[in-house]
Amino acid sequence: MAINSSKNPDGSVQNAMPSYFYSPPLDVSAAFPQATPASTFPPCASDYFQLDNLLTAEEQAIRKKVRECMEKEIAPIMTEYWEKAKFPFHVIPKLGALRIAGGTIKDYGCPGLSITGSAIAVAEVARVDASCSTFILVHSSLAMLTIALCGSEAQKQKYLPSLAQLQAVACWALTEPDYGSDASALKTLPQSGGSWILEGKAVDRNSTFADVLVSC
Ligand SMILES: Cc1cc2nc3c(=O)[nH]c(=O)nc-3n(C[C@H](O)[C@H](O)[C@H](O)COP(=O)(O)OP(=O)(O)OC[C@H]3O[C@@H](n4cnc5c(N)ncnc54)[C@H](O)[C@@H]3O)c2cc1C
Repeated sequence: MAINSSKNPDGSVQNAMPSYFYSPPLDVSAAFPQATPASTFPPCASDYFQLDNLLTAEEQAIRKKVRECMEKEIAPIMTEYWEKAKFPFHVIPKLGALRIAGGTIKDYGCPGLSITGSAIAVAEVARVDASCSTFILVHSSLAMLTIALCGSEAQKQKYLPSLAQLQAVACWALTEPDYGSDASALKTLPQSGGSWILEGKAVDRNSTFADVLVSC
């Protein structure tokens, strides 16, 4: 890749920005016509692996429901939000109405989907927008599932029902700047003393707006 250079007053060459830095802004409507508000998201017209035959009627129904919602509600607006580096919070109730948050968790107001049904639902979200699927996955598969697997009965009853309806949003704090996969080396520790104090520098998706933080 070409690198633009400029000369300093003393004659030394200073590497500036890569050439693409000076290019005109990308015309999103030309590069990604399927992602523009004016267009229709391309239909899902192929089934190379004949997946349809492997899905139960319930799994096909959830896929259809999620697909329709994502194509209608998310596809037309998402490019605009990507360009602004913002998240469309107003669609959270629509995602909640799909009844996919909580995925395979049974009871506590959760949908209790099959593993395949839950995976298909998130795949349909990701087909239209990867950031929406990360939002759902962190909320559902990381935070909610941790509560379901490791939480007390009181915690499950308190948190899972509203999280399942996306009336509340959850985030999940494992990764720290110095440690990711190596969970045993994390520096963030809970301290008891009337309340819980989390110290350290956890970074996690959804954390800037979440109502519930699940710390590992
Ligand atoms: C879409 C997405 C969403 C995420 N959301 C969250 C979130 O909400 N909250 C959160 O806490 N985290 C989240 N994570 C995880 C987090 O961002 C880090 O990616 C993850 O913890 C890995 O840490 P790291 O990037 O520092 O990689 P590292 O841990 O530094 O790993 C780098 C590479 O080294 C390899 N490696 C690590 N340890 C070993 C070992 N012992 N032996 C061999 N190989 C090894 C890994 O496989 C990897 O390839 C998310 C990740 C993704 C992709």
